[in-house]
Amino acid sequence: MIGDQVLNLDGCFDDGLLESADPEALGGRRIWSLLDGIMDSTVEERRSLRQEVSNILRIHSESDSESESKAKKHLVSQASSVFEDAPVVSLDYTDFYSSIFHATNVGSMFRPDQPLMPNYKYVPIGYHGRASSIVISGTDIKRPRGQNRSDAEKPPVFIPAKNLDYEMELGFFVGQGNELGQPIPIGEAEKHIFGMCLVNDWSARDVQAWEYQPLGPFLAKNFATTISPFVVTMEALAPFRVPAFERDPEDPQPLDYLRDEQNQKFGGLDINLEVYIQTEKMRNENIEPFLISRSNTKDLYWTVGQMLTHHASNGCNMQTGDLIASGTVSGKEKDERGCLLERTWRGTEPLELPSGETRRFLEDGDEVIMKGYCEREGFRRIGFGECRGRIIPAD
Ligand code: CA
Repeated sequence: MIGDQVLNLDGCFDDGLLESADPEALGGRRIWSLLDGIMDSTVEERRSLRQEVSNILRIHSESDSESESKAKKHLVSQASSVFEDAPVVSLDYTDFYSSIFHATNVGSMFRPDQPLMPNYKYVPIGYHGRASSIVISGTDIKRPRGQNRSDAEKPPVFIPAKNLDYEMELGFFVGQGNELGQPIPIGEAEKHIFGMCLVNDWSARDVQAWEYQPLGPFLAKNFATTISPFVVTMEALAPFRVPAFERDPEDPQPLDYLRDEQNQKFGGLDINLEVYIQTEKMRNENIEPFLISRSNTKDLYWTVGQMLTHHASNGCNMQTGDLIASGTVSGKEKDERGCLLERTWRGTEPLELPSGETRRFLEDGDEVIMKGYCEREGFRRIGFGECRGRIIPAD
């Protein structure tokens, strides 16, 4: 993606514009558009491909040579492009819980006496999600059914989820994996990360509240996870790296296997995230989507490198294309809370929308639109595209 246009790498490859791409080395695979063909390449190979792509784009903008018309043919407007498939087919999906603000907020609702569990500052907490239900932006989300026990006096009932929520997250894709039994040292972690996307970890809070003990999230989460249609590579994100989250002086330092000087200095990411809602009524009345929250990945307690290293620290083998998500990205302030559970404080402080409606949780017809971007003076702004999904009624 470049500005509001998209470069079709498959087409460039066919026209011989990508010289470093050797079809034989790729095993004859024709899957550029799926990215899988380049995801397991080395950092150097990725850089040379990136250089070639930027050359194609420069030729396009500067000259009127034969190459220009060739390149132009493969540059199409984003609006006219339809992205029907996820950019990457993930075999596995893991979701972390790396925002200390999110963890503290949610914890204080359920355990006011001990909001943050004693392990939080030592262990990057996560759970294994379900890769099969990852869908691309624009896919409708059917309200799931599940066990609800909102009345403690009665047995649970199996009904369409009542407290449907979104979670604004950052996702990253594993590039080269690791062998089973071979951990990824923290100093090497970033070499195994290919790029990033936006993630909406849809969550049914009523189902979650009843099912989560003692093994954590299950059906409350795995009915759907939406991702944005583009992968922003780590090379593109280089100008937006920042130090890791600054821990309170009383907080423990990460254990040695999660500690690395480079990671402390540059392991963080300055990515702005925004969540909007547009209800059916708002659409009918042509009211623009309403901004619910803004947050930033700088506020994550654990870096992406630490998440990956921790995941593989027991020898668990990560595979090319695996999706790892950060967990809800929330900041300190009220308008930086990355899900409705926090934003409406479990429904006790409903959102007031410009249509006159209020929202505690998501209603049928609501569309959630997530956006992400990086900005820094002297560098080209980078957008993540959109991650959107509309709630449709349960069967
Ligand atoms: Ca999550």
